[in-house]
Amino acid sequence: MNKTVGKPEPDELYTHPLENIEDVQGFYEAINRQHLTNSLSKERPYTYWTIELYDKQNGIRGGGGLGVLAADTRRVAEQSNVPFVLVTPFYPSEQHQHYVKDGDGFKNYTTHEPVDYVKYGFSFLDTVNIKCNGTIVSLDVIEKALGSTRIVCVTEPGFGELYSGDSGGDHRLYQEVALGFGGYQALKLAGLRPAIMQLNEVATFFAALARLDELTANGMDFYEAVVYTRKHTLYTNHTLVQAAEADFGYDQFERFVFPNLKSLAVKKWLSDKFENGRIRLSAVTIEIAELRSGVSKLHARVANYHDVAGNKVKFKAITNGIDIPTWTAPSIVYYYKKHNILDNFYLPTKNYAEGIEKITAEDIKELKAKGRTELNTVLSKRPDQYGNFVKIPDDAILFNFKRRFVDYKRPWLPFSDPEILKLILKKHNGYYILCGRVHEGDTNMAKKLEKILKLVDKDEFLKERVHYLPDYDEELGRTLSIGSNISINNPIVGLEACGTSWMKDIINLGLLISTHDGGVADCSADSYLSIDGDTEAEEIDSLYARMEEAASAWENDFDLEFLVKKELDNFLPVISGTRMLRDYLDYLF
Ligand SMILES: *Cc1c(COP(=O)(O)O)cnc(C)c1O
Repeated sequence: MNKTVGKPEPDELYTHPLENIEDVQGFYEAINRQHLTNSLSKERPYTYWTIELYDKQNGIRGGGGLGVLAADTRRVAEQSNVPFVLVTPFYPSEQHQHYVKDGDGFKNYTTHEPVDYVKYGFSFLDTVNIKCNGTIVSLDVIEKALGSTRIVCVTEPGFGELYSGDSGGDHRLYQEVALGFGGYQALKLAGLRPAIMQLNEVATFFAALARLDELTANGMDFYEAVVYTRKHTLYTNHTLVQAAEADFGYDQFERFVFPNLKSLAVKKWLSDKFENGRIRLSAVTIEIAELRSGVSKLHARVANYHDVAGNKVKFKAITNGIDIPTWTAPSIVYYYKKHNILDNFYLPTKNYAEGIEKITAEDIKELKAKGRTELNTVLSKRPDQYGNFVKIPDDAILFNFKRRFVDYKRPWLPFSDPEILKLILKKHNGYYILCGRVHEGDTNMAKKLEKILKLVDKDEFLKERVHYLPDYDEELGRTLSIGSNISINNPIVGLEACGTSWMKDIINLGLLISTHDGGVADCSADSYLSIDGDTEAEEIDSLYARMEEAASAWENDFDLEFLVKKELDNFLPVISGTRMLRDYLDYLF
């Protein structure tokens, strides 16, 4: 945030090709007709706001599920020919994580690499200005068109990395304000009027605030402007506990937010939302968005949020899906289409259950063998914790655990009793691949990872069979799903909002072992190999029993067929990203 241009001149901030982004006339027509008719068009698209996008093909590396969801939503919109604009920052630098053996332990270090948007096919449109900390910051607006969709980004050399700094700190607030106010002006530059604004979590609140401010400054009555903004804003929540969210202080808003508001009424409205000098973005996002969704059935039910009046907030359940062609082996996609299981839009067909019924163990094994080859190609370029390149034998059973290293996902759980783990791996010619980045500065999780690596290092057998692959990313997420037999997902029940990596495993004909949580709980616990238990000790016993059961199933055609078919029967409609987008469109229009 150090690209200072000079002192703000009010007029120089807001001169753009599209003087008035808002279709106020349309609003009055709509209330006259008693309902809103939001037809989408190229100039009036569905807009999707996200602080994180995980789409390395387009130059943007994310941190986890929130960003993967954003990328998949856009891809599905492109396939379905929906006019869709994704607004996000382009981070000029990204992190990479490395592990090296260091004496008895492991040394973990992070490198920072510059990213150039030109290399990823973005073109520069113009600059927009926002006011931060007493200066004007000039943001580059860049964009890239992909079919019926566009990615519009704001960026500047001092923008920093994704999730850099503290979550309630000045730099995060700057990034969020830049996305909201800068991104809103960027739409004007691009000649776009948002039909709908979907806020992917509360870090994007300022986009809706910018809209409310513009409507009010353009002369709409403040309360009508609130109604209009609310009716056209969808807040998608991914978090469970409101209290866990970082808050901001009034002084921070005085420096970063208020200077960007033109309307005194909006400023007053926002000021009134502070409690004891602090504000949580979820509280104001709930105020500004009448449409609210959670990311799985369970999550929508248990997310514990209250509005400023103290009433519990209701969330519509729209379970995440994935973009099937992105995450599935091409031969498996072909197989689904050939057997009339998926249609051309990657939705389950009307008779998909009949198609699934025809799957044979022989087909599964043949498709998985191809996947193993593809995985080994990727592994030949991705070193493990020793700097070695692993090759998983064709006849081995491969387990994977691949997700962000955060406490509630419990990556250490399968290492609770190393002797049992060893027995299972020995008996079934098993291998185990572990993946997941530790957030920079999370010393607790860094220690837990090191503990696992040391445990493995001490044992000659485990050292040969258990591999940690640093710098977890989309490439590893995808190919591990394609090339593994069994995946493990064991979050503490009640803490996973949805999760999508387990969907990648099921769609690629793998067996899922999971606790009954997040989107997995959209279907009954006998749809997959569930980890049960009232205590962690019971869960560990159940996990090992399931690992044994899953490995045995790969040695018995009847069991394998039965388990894979049951998973697909139940989860295929959940997994389909097209189903998710259709659910959003049904809810919105
Ligand atoms: C699929 C994917 C995710 C999603 O992870 P969940 O923990 O299941 O939400 C995160 N990161 C990468 C790299 C992925 O490919």
